[in-house]
Amino acid sequence: MDPLVAAIDQGTSSTRFLVFNAKTAEVISHYQVEINQSFPKEGWVEEDPKEIMQSVYECMERTCEKLCQLNIDISNIKAVGVTNQRETTLVWDKETGEPLYNAIVWLDLRTQSTVERLINKAPGRNKNHLKHKTGLPISTYFSAVKLRWLLDNVDEVKQAVLSERALFGTVDSWIIWCLTGGRNGGVHCTDVSNASRTMLFNIHTMDWDPELCRYFDVPMEILPRVKSSSEIYGCMKSSSLVGVPISGCLGDQSAALVGQMCFREGQAKNTYGTGCFLLRNTGTKPVMSDHGLLTTVAYKLGKDEPACYALEGSVAIAGAVVRWLKDNMGIVQSSSEIEKLAAAVGTSYGCYFVPAFSGLYAPYWEPSARGIICGLTQFTNRNHLAFAALEAVCFQTREILDAMNQDSGIPLTQLQVDGGMTSNRLLMQLQADILCMPVVRPTMSETTALGAAMAAGAAEGVDVWSLSPGQLPHVMSEKYEPQINSDESEFRFARWKKAVQKAMNWET
Ligand code: ADP
Repeated sequence: MDPLVAAIDQGTSSTRFLVFNAKTAEVISHYQVEINQSFPKEGWVEEDPKEIMQSVYECMERTCEKLCQLNIDISNIKAVGVTNQRETTLVWDKETGEPLYNAIVWLDLRTQSTVERLINKAPGRNKNHLKHKTGLPISTYFSAVKLRWLLDNVDEVKQAVLSERALFGTVDSWIIWCLTGGRNGGVHCTDVSNASRTMLFNIHTMDWDPELCRYFDVPMEILPRVKSSSEIYGCMKSSSLVGVPISGCLGDQSAALVGQMCFREGQAKNTYGTGCFLLRNTGTKPVMSDHGLLTTVAYKLGKDEPACYALEGSVAIAGAVVRWLKDNMGIVQSSSEIEKLAAAVGTSYGCYFVPAFSGLYAPYWEPSARGIICGLTQFTNRNHLAFAALEAVCFQTREILDAMNQDSGIPLTQLQVDGGMTSNRLLMQLQADILCMPVVRPTMSETTALGAAMAAGAAEGVDVWSLSPGQLPHVMSEKYEPQINSDESEFRFARWKKAVQKAMNWET
């Protein structure tokens, strides 16, 4: 039997556990559990850290049961990788193992006033004041401001810091700490790709930065140790996989870049999940954007390997708009139903939907923007609205792709895509139409988990997966060619941009 490598993919909407054949990259078995989100106040988004861990254990156990039913010995699983929703911020007590507050999800907007205060103290009120070290603008999006909020507002967190019991982490750190023993010796670590989204990490020195920590007034003792994305962090201390090394760790967008085999400078992928994230590999040099993109650490595949960087265009709301139509509006019963609804009309009939629920991220970085639907007539119905929601995802991608092309000077000629939303064929066709460019989708949609499994399998001491160029697995794909002329797509895109201006200035 070929060796197997597993991945935990802890996303914003769900947790998955997948087992891959390390020779063929084929998925042997998997299990998925949806995650509840709570919205305690307007703009707040939280998840329960204990529910996250329960979902991880449930997915692992169910997948192991399925493997047993297939007569596959789970001892063939040689390593586990972790990939996760990035920026989402947790603080827990290392002595009790208890979370001290819910996880504050990356989309959360409660830190808007903290962000204003931090920008006010920057010279020239420049939101890019820390960009030279972090690659990021000061925004509600990143972990440091969420941690600042927890330190200011949650007594349990303040007390635990004073009594040296507090640990901070993003979701990867929480999962690895719990799986490697928790309060009985759990390993408190993160990888460079996740660390680079906190705003406390210097992307040049590859370490926590004392000056950044002072800026946010964050105690450095509570931070996890930063490691590469591919090395043995520790072994499983519980579950059916006791003793198996955890040896891969990548933020979800980095994992998708690896899973799509974008190892060469210039290669890019766009992932459509809760949000939408276009990353372009810039090799071993960090490239700073002049067009509202982020500079991020893509991965470091081994202790002694160089770090690779990426330019990133981040869109906060993509699949989340479909979930909103389902959960808040009841327009669909399931996310996949939106395709049929939108396809029934094939047009938004002049309706534009800017889902700026969490402000607007790239290229605008405007936290005060809010969602709008415009161009409504008596004729507009829920089908048109469904179509406009899908089109919004495509327009937002077009905006970040244009910014990426301007920054790099070398335009992309096709777009490699993945993520939960890409099973929607109408969306894929619309995207090709709006970009006037082919869209290429792997038929195996779990590229994020694949990337984490590859990092885990390639780690020194595991060595069951080779990342050398000639030995990468071949993943089949399908291509969507543009079917409308560019005048038509330019017209629609120009209308979209007008709608965006309204979303940004809706109060004035
Ligand atoms: P994440 O990794 O952020 O948890 P996923 O990649 O699992 O996200 O994708 C889930 C998101 O995609 C959800 O927001 C869901 O509403 C949306 N989605 C899933 N299937 C479809 C579909 N067929 N059409 C449109 N949206 C979909």
